[in-house]
Amino acid sequence: MTARVVAVEVSCDGPDEQTDCPDSAAVRARFTSVTVRQVRADGRADGWTGRRVPGHLRDVCPTCKGAAR
Ligand SMILES: [Zn+2]
Repeated sequence: MTARVVAVEVSCDGPDEQTDCPDSAAVRARFTSVTVRQVRADGRADGWTGRRVPGHLRDVCPTCKGAAR
């Protein structure tokens, strides 16, 4: 039995550091998107944002982007 990685998953990091995403959202990647960079590009096309915080990049879905203050 073989397992194959189809694509990376970019999931929502929630509206803020303490709160989990209410939708547990993940970017719906295009069929051709394999790398993190490509999947993030797909997310941006759907309204996702990447917020740079010290140490890493937080991905936030459109729902949480609207909820974040
Ligand atoms: Zn979210």
